[in-house]
Amino acid sequence: MLLQPVGGRGQQALLAAPVLVHGLPVTAAYLAAGGSPVHTRTTAGFFAGSSLEDFNPDAVPSAAPAGLVARVPFEFPADQRLAVAVGGDGVVFRADGCFGCFVRTVRALSQKPPPVALEALGALAWQRIVLGLADTLGALRLQGLPLSVLRCEDHG
Ligand SMILES: [Zn+2]
Repeated sequence: MLLQPVGGRGQQALLAAPVLVHGLPVTAAYLAAGGSPVHTRTTAGFFAGSSLEDFNPDAVPSAAPAGLVARVPFEFPADQRLAVAVGGDGVVFRADGCFGCFVRTVRALSQKPPPVALEALGALAWQRIVLGLADTLGALRLQGLPLSVLRCEDHG
């Protein structure tokens, strides 16, 4: 849905990578509609009354999450190699990149509620990670100045 050239192989990759979504109902709905099995409690708020199965019957996960997409503030586990953080002003993603750099960049995100478009961007970031289209570490913003990755002590 978000990515035109996903194709059959891409859909298989998305299906094979269940995702835990925390605090982001719009992100959960976008991911489910795009073919990712989603672990989440609810689609409260924006999608109140609908369940993820309404968006895609394949969205019901049959395996443990391969990674997570979470709204900040959130304690991201270091052993989760695939992670996306959504803040009020941007998205930070990690695809095997340095955990220290990831955490430092995530801490700089605004904790205000993310606008709907930013939740959608979080979904897109997850899909790009799973499809192998993303850098190992990166930060995205919808508009304004680009968001840069802040380097940790080891990478100063
Ligand atoms: Zn680092």
